[in-house]
Amino acid sequence: MSLMPFLEVSQAIALMGGDSLYQCMQCGLCSGLCPWPDVESPFRTRKLMRMAQMGLEGFESDEILYACTTCKLCVVNCPRQVKIVDVVRAMRAMIAESGATPPSLRPIMGSIHSQGNPWSEPADKREAWTEGQDVPRFDGSQEYLLFVCCTSAYEKRSQNIAKAMVKILKAAGVSFGIIGNEERCCGEALRKMGDEEQFGNLAEKNIKLWADKGVKKIVTTSPHSYVTFSQEYPEFGSEVEVLHYTQLVKQLLDEGKLKPANQFAKKVIYHDPCYLGRHSEVYEEPREILKAVPGVELLEYDRNRKKALCCGGGGGRLWMETEPEQRFSTHKMRQADEKGAEVVATCCPYCISMLTDSAKGENLDEKIQVLDVAEILADSL
Ligand code: SF4
Ligand code: SF4
Repeated sequence: MSLMPFLEVSQAIALMGGDSLYQCMQCGLCSGLCPWPDVESPFRTRKLMRMAQMGLEGFESDEILYACTTCKLCVVNCPRQVKIVDVVRAMRAMIAESGATPPSLRPIMGSIHSQGNPWSEPADKREAWTEGQDVPRFDGSQEYLLFVCCTSAYEKRSQNIAKAMVKILKAAGVSFGIIGNEERCCGEALRKMGDEEQFGNLAEKNIKLWADKGVKKIVTTSPHSYVTFSQEYPEFGSEVEVLHYTQLVKQLLDEGKLKPANQFAKKVIYHDPCYLGRHSEVYEEPREILKAVPGVELLEYDRNRKKALCCGGGGGRLWMETEPEQRFSTHKMRQADEKGAEVVATCCPYCISMLTDSAKGENLDEKIQVLDVAEILADSL
């Protein structure tokens, strides 16, 4: 067999942003930290890197290339600084170009393209969650655009996070507004599924919308939007300052603009979302917010911060089927129970969704609540 097709595949991956794959020396340390081998999956990070280097076929299945949640845990262990998540993204981009993205992800990509959200909801209902509330609209005069991610805009459970954020920002006297129906998805899921072209179009549209509206600073509800806007949109010319809400809220607490008063006397274990933790290195702000709420007893998972186990919902996995025993969120709920937690707190809508489903699946939903840090804080104001 000719070597050319092999070279072409690995070169294509490198050209699409996965060029660090050549640094891989096949030590296998990444596979040792990746959560998949612990749940009896055939997926091995080292093997995927080998397949990428050699251009070997057979990596494009749900169980291999699309198993990766892009949690970045493997990168912590890599002695050669291989940008494994970028290699995965590049491999998926190559598959997307050939039209072979897994069928379960195609409607999600189509919905983002046609409606500006992954939930197959109408674009003109994006701000429906604000009905009956006084939520300011961004008109260029406010300091912050509050970017409510698609999940918190459309999904019923998650809308409470957006409402909690409005309550917090108002209580602190922050000048803010939402854009609402004119807004589109940040595009993070599109990029992780490999649709680079649509992602680029979306980024350019969002950046233009912000310029037209006079947006200078954004505070996001989701760590995925935060990473996308702060680390990826600059490639497309964005100069907007971006914060995840936990960073802004921590500042507001320090400045004495927020004074949590109501007791929340519960044992709360904090789950680090991968995109706020490893991808952004924001570990302490959410914990400081929880500690500022009277009555909270903060617990920790054995593996926390840099080594925290992912919920399993990133990299498009939120929309893919996973066997119950293979759901990382199920293991996180069991571990929370073993620690005696009454609440699992986190600050990412994907994590909330995954953990809530696993709490139900494990019959732990009456024993352990899954709450966003913003919800806990808003209730204490
Ligand atoms: S990013 Fe996470 S799921 Fe993907 S290979 Fe690395 S550790 Fe495994
Ligand atoms: S840890 Fe890094 S160098 Fe070692 S196999 Fe994994 S990607 Fe390659």
